[in-house]
Amino acid sequence: MPQEKDNKPDQSEILQFASLIAHQLQSPISTIHTILDVLAAELAGPLTAKQKDLVARANIRCDEGVATVRRMLAIVSALSRREEIGGVIDVAAIIRSAQTRYEEKALQFDVTFTAETDSESFYVRGTEPAMAEVLDALVDNAFKYTPAHGQVRLVVSAVPEEKIVRISIADSGVGIAEGMREKVFEPFYRTPAARGSTRAGIGLGLSFVKAVVDELGGTVRAGKADLGGAEIAIRLPMAERSEIDRLEEAAKSSPLRVVIVGGVAAGPKVAAKVIRLVPRASVTVVEKGEFLSYAGCGLPYYISGQVTNHAELMSTPMGVLRDAVFFQKVKNVRIMSRTEAMEIDRKGKRVRIKDLADGRESCLEYDKLMLATGASPIRPSIPGHDLGNIFCLHGVQDAEGIKAVLSGGKAKDVVIVGGGLIGMETTEALVSSGCRVTIVERLPYTLRILDPEIARLVELHLESKGVKVLTNTTVESFEGDDKVRSVVTDKGTLSADAVIMGIGVRPNTALARRAGLQVGETGGIKVDERMRTSDPDIYAAGDCVECVDILTGRPCYVPLGSTANKQGRVAAINICGGQDTFPGVLGSTICKVFDYCLARTGLTEAAARELGYKVTIALAPAPDRANYMPTAKMLMLKIVVDSDTRRLLGVQAVGPGAGDKRIDVAATAIAGGMTVDQLANLDLSYAPPYSPAMDNLITAANIARNKLDGHMVGVSAADVHRMLAEKKDFTFLDVRTPGEHAQIRLPGAILIPLSTLRGRLDEIPRDKEVVTFGQISLRGYEASLILRAAGFPQVRVLDGGIAMWPYEKLP
Ligand code: FAD
Repeated sequence: MPQEKDNKPDQSEILQFASLIAHQLQSPISTIHTILDVLAAELAGPLTAKQKDLVARANIRCDEGVATVRRMLAIVSALSRREEIGGVIDVAAIIRSAQTRYEEKALQFDVTFTAETDSESFYVRGTEPAMAEVLDALVDNAFKYTPAHGQVRLVVSAVPEEKIVRISIADSGVGIAEGMREKVFEPFYRTPAARGSTRAGIGLGLSFVKAVVDELGGTVRAGKADLGGAEIAIRLPMAERSEIDRLEEAAKSSPLRVVIVGGVAAGPKVAAKVIRLVPRASVTVVEKGEFLSYAGCGLPYYISGQVTNHAELMSTPMGVLRDAVFFQKVKNVRIMSRTEAMEIDRKGKRVRIKDLADGRESCLEYDKLMLATGASPIRPSIPGHDLGNIFCLHGVQDAEGIKAVLSGGKAKDVVIVGGGLIGMETTEALVSSGCRVTIVERLPYTLRILDPEIARLVELHLESKGVKVLTNTTVESFEGDDKVRSVVTDKGTLSADAVIMGIGVRPNTALARRAGLQVGETGGIKVDERMRTSDPDIYAAGDCVECVDILTGRPCYVPLGSTANKQGRVAAINICGGQDTFPGVLGSTICKVFDYCLARTGLTEAAARELGYKVTIALAPAPDRANYMPTAKMLMLKIVVDSDTRRLLGVQAVGPGAGDKRIDVAATAIAGGMTVDQLANLDLSYAPPYSPAMDNLITAANIARNKLDGHMVGVSAADVHRMLAEKKDFTFLDVRTPGEHAQIRLPGAILIPLSTLRGRLDEIPRDKEVVTFGQISLRGYEASLILRAAGFPQVRVLDGGIAMWPYEKLP
């Protein structure tokens, strides 16, 4: 931590430190408070009078702890927003709104409180919550150190010639000795009188006051009050006239009322951003579930046990639970959980809501409405679908259900219906919990986000981990008594202790449809690039909306947490009167399946062809870093290029190597409209522990360029497989070494190692096509150049070599 010259921590460090401590303390103190409440109410058994007294006293101290933590959080959160809001506040108005509270407190302490302001308004620069906290801290402090029957006086006055507003709190209490008047602003410093006081304190109040006042460009001094005790005097710069005019104009209008339906990803994002932009806004989140702002993406890792407590999925990086209290206290957002939005009255700008606990209905008025209603898993009405132990994995409760069935090794055979991403992630979690897993997929291959031959590589990896992958297989029914026992498919019956349905999600649009909002052709709510629905006062974001594909400009439905958050931010900015746009998606996706990363961005080859592109592809299997590094791992890339424009259209990456950074670079390149020629010369970083000298993506781009420039003609594994099956007359030429060949071979191939090829050309018939291959296609390419130079008329190279051959290999 940087220190000031005199080794005192600076004020911003104090605030950071306070924030950290407060976040750490909030949850334990609240828990202790609840436990004490339970004890005090004798819910855990009767208490003696003595015990009651002890619990009551502990509770008071706990209250003080809660208040301190809240104060710290409020101050830090108020100051952290200062840059974003700038702004002007009226100190007199803040005092007026707090006056009754101060008077009530004065009664408790048995002191007289007076507030004197000689003007209606005193404008200074700052934020309302920060100034309110400063005043609260000063008034509390004065009450604390003023004996019964004493006086506390708050005075606000202007010093126009100095352009200063002066706030002073004077009391008739114990006072602050002259030598300590500077020190009282140091963190944790308490005067001997304060230390001797029976009233609790930790010595942070005044240091916070100083931190805030410093931030606002003012000064604070302690002195002797004419009332006999201490006086704390603050001087703050007056706001400029132009700023005051703007504030008065804004004050004429009532605060922005924002109602948000949905409280998981997009909803809370909008709430937090709106409050940051317009602190006075009244923001309400309506969520029909119990849990808020949880990371649905982390659920598979909760099932596997890597995440040990579901609360971790709902916590900030600082470990603070993002529950209703957090949103209310820290974000100033009202949370209505277990509450369903039933109907939108667009004309009256109201939402009818229902409290799911007691069935009561009421209305919320809005200026802007945000729909973040997400998506629901598809549950097909296959016979037996309502048996026990058949789950969808969508929310925390689903994960709890699955965990309960797994606990104690109860579920041994688990069938996953659907070979999508959620099925894949859950598979790993189940296998690591000791289950035997079978994936059943109706289509000829799993993972539709990839091309078939790439998906097949992932299936091979799954099979190597003992997972059964049944493609071209349709589930017909589930059987069992109350709980599922077996899954009947068109290819036979599978025994099942549990079933996970992972066949996709459908956008939740019922509320929007009932309100007459436009819904797109993919089934998601239609929004413009500012995330506005067909009603300009209603916005939508996340899994409930239809997206636009950046490459094709066509509507698409790609429900992802990353997108939900970005869209939420854009919506919030526009809700608050700003201008921001969301350009669309490339369908960038990444997923971990055992030791493999699988990822893709942009168009697959199949999708590009379907859209009418003339396509060139390149497969590039290679180590993901310098091959001599012990950490190097295989990464298999496929890139899809528009043959006419040479633009990059899509990239897929699978394997144990680092696919994430290649996909992210590719997404950037595609969004920037780059050609493979530009991609091939990108200035990507290189050092042996991180990448090869020519990054995998650059190599893939160069393979594509070789093809586009006519230096190489490729042939896909699927075509060669078909040629072999149809017993086509061609030479399938393996140019690897005899040692490699002895380990693994492709059916129908002959071996002529590259080093001997030039001398053995006579062994290869010239009147037949030759398909060359090596381990990763480089030697295959070199062999093709030798053959072409020697006059062989028809030479093609197997795309991806033996490394990306997705069919049977011979040992
Ligand atoms: P949701 O998270 O679905 O939240 C919508 C909320 O709205 C729900 O809680 C619902 O109860 C509430 N609601 C709906 N209607 C009403 C109503 N009428 N009244 C009140 N409340 C209502 N994405 C990634 O980018 N990467 C990943 O790795 C990833 N992994 C995932 C793993 C799993 C197991 C799952 C289930 C999802 C994963 N996702 C991933 C997807 C990601 O979780 C979603 O895209 C994201 O949660 C969408 O957020 P949302 O706010 O739009 O909708």
